[in-house]
Amino acid sequence: MFTFLMIGAHPDDMDLRCGGLATRLKRKGHNVIFLSMTNGNAGHMSMEKDALRERRLLEMREAALRYGAIRYETFDIDDGYLAADIPTRDRLIRFIRKETPDVIITHRTCDYHPDHRACGQLVCDSCYLVGVPMVCPDTPAMRKHPAILSCEDRFSVPVPFRPDVCVPIDDAIEAKVQGVLCHVSQMYEWLPYDGHWQDVLSAPDRESQTEALRDRFHKRFSATVKRFPDSFPRGTVYGEAFQRDEYGTPLSEELYRVMTAAADDPL
Ligand SMILES: [Zn+2]
Repeated sequence: MFTFLMIGAHPDDMDLRCGGLATRLKRKGHNVIFLSMTNGNAGHMSMEKDALRERRLLEMREAALRYGAIRYETFDIDDGYLAADIPTRDRLIRFIRKETPDVIITHRTCDYHPDHRACGQLVCDSCYLVGVPMVCPDTPAMRKHPAILSCEDRFSVPVPFRPDVCVPIDDAIEAKVQGVLCHVSQMYEWLPYDGHWQDVLSAPDRESQTEALRDRFHKRFSATVKRFPDSFPRGTVYGEAFQRDEYGTPLSEELYRVMTAAADDPL
């Protein structure tokens, strides 16, 4: 059994980028932990911050059940205020040492959102130091560094995303969509408002709105295979892709196979 730690800046980030992989890994008995560095309390156009923080905490716990009861943790830092500073880095180093992940998945450091950039930077900055005993000496240093992977994005500067590890998720797409839709404050409220796509929710009843959102997310989660068609088995519709980060330990062949194995493969 391996441990996968998926670190996002906000409570719904890893759901959107690796909810399918998380579901598949959990089904096969691996240990999956989501960590949201912030509490997401700025992701709304009208809610009060404390109430939003509480709401998002409940949403992420609900979503975690959909992926097979994975663990979901948060550093509870205010949304929009994540900084790649030394105290947060020390906190992350201690967290990683406690969980001893084999693989960490996070954002790349080139991204539109400052919290995403800071999150990616914090992971980069921690991944060597977790093995240095004199840094945070109150927790034992790791002798084996985790492999680091970055989630897919569409940014091209300084370099476009490279699909090194491509995971077909057709067998997990329903769990992923259900999990993503648990983030009600985001999927039904903030993201449509922020992205100017509220027309998708024009139906008066919740059921029709949910159907429209399901369509939207099915389309969105099929974009990765359309973008990198040669990287997935023929016939795959839904996929997730990850880039190897050269600062971490190289991803072993065994871990690569665990991540990409077919549903009926005993791996
Ligand atoms: Zn985010």
